[in-house]
Amino acid sequence: MTRNQARDIQKSARRIVVKVGSSTLTREGKLRPRKFSDLARSISTLIDNGRQVVLVSSGAIAVGSHRLGWADPGHSIRQKQAAAAVGQIGLVELYQRRFANCGRHVAQVLLTRPGLDDRERFLNARHTLTELLRLGVVPIVNENDTVATEEIRFGDNDNLSATIVNLIGAELLIILTDVDGLHAECPRPGQPKAPLIDLVEKITPKIERAAQGSDSDFGRGGMITKLQAARSAARSGAATVLCNGRYADVLERVASGEAVGTLFLPGERLASRKHWLAFTTRTRGELVIDEGASRAIEKRGRSLLPAGIINVRGSFGIGDSVTCLDSAGRELARGLVSYAAAEVTRIMGRPTGEIQRVLGYSNGDEVIHRDDLVLLDD
Ligand code: GLU
Repeated sequence: MTRNQARDIQKSARRIVVKVGSSTLTREGKLRPRKFSDLARSISTLIDNGRQVVLVSSGAIAVGSHRLGWADPGHSIRQKQAAAAVGQIGLVELYQRRFANCGRHVAQVLLTRPGLDDRERFLNARHTLTELLRLGVVPIVNENDTVATEEIRFGDNDNLSATIVNLIGAELLIILTDVDGLHAECPRPGQPKAPLIDLVEKITPKIERAAQGSDSDFGRGGMITKLQAARSAARSGAATVLCNGRYADVLERVASGEAVGTLFLPGERLASRKHWLAFTTRTRGELVIDEGASRAIEKRGRSLLPAGIINVRGSFGIGDSVTCLDSAGRELARGLVSYAAAEVTRIMGRPTGEIQRVLGYSNGDEVIHRDDLVLLDD
């Protein structure tokens, strides 16, 4: 694929998720009304041109801390949650006014990871978002910080935005940040910047190294979470453009196929349910599997049987998501288990024919059926 062909993906994408960070929307905790006007105008233009856009916006904590007169967002999770609850109102209020000037309604959508962990709620969120898009309303998504504690939250809107990509089947994720894109080496103060990487076909260890380093300029999650988001979007069959939100017309430029920022190409697309399984669900435990089982699931697309399991960690119930590791600790796959942790411990290493006798019942031969199993390497 030539560079121009790659950039054509931006032109043809019909459903787009735009993620904008606090660093673009606020200065010293104060909202920058101009930015909101620019975003509303650009997104309305995209919609007028036949695109559908979901906006994932941070800024609640920054705005809330400012309103409460705090010098910084506070350190405890409770303080941040309180600040987010205060700030979310200001954020959405301003979007509402700016989009109204463009003749558009907005909708507030607050999501949590445990909510989306549940397949039924995930599908409910999908239905709501697609209906809003059909109505020409702009959904403004943020994490519901009130109920999100440290262990369970997305924690950064980069990963949340990639989840939305799968949720609505978007073809393009645009991450607006305060840098021009991914540089070949992480920019260091006082040093000339390494050249910008225009196109990333695949996120390799070299690309990951380029993303490491100071993250103070890069918003909450740093460049690492932006790569995680790009990787997740790629497995959903979507491209990602990482670019500088400082420029007023950057969204129109991206959508018209201009070479702005860094473009990450889509990868091999996982079916939506498998994507959800690999990237959205929280895993509740780990199964360590032997070489034969690793080969069977990786190379031959087989189910995971009790015989290949050598260790069980964590406490999970039937239907929970678990990670499958090889004996060296490499994460190979994720899947939904047909047996609880205590049961797997009793049947591991045994032939399938013994399940009934050992447990007194059988929920099938497989601990993880291949339909409920997703390999993590593309
Ligand atoms: N939900 C947080 C907020 O609105 C943002 C998380 C992030 O910046 O990625 O402040």
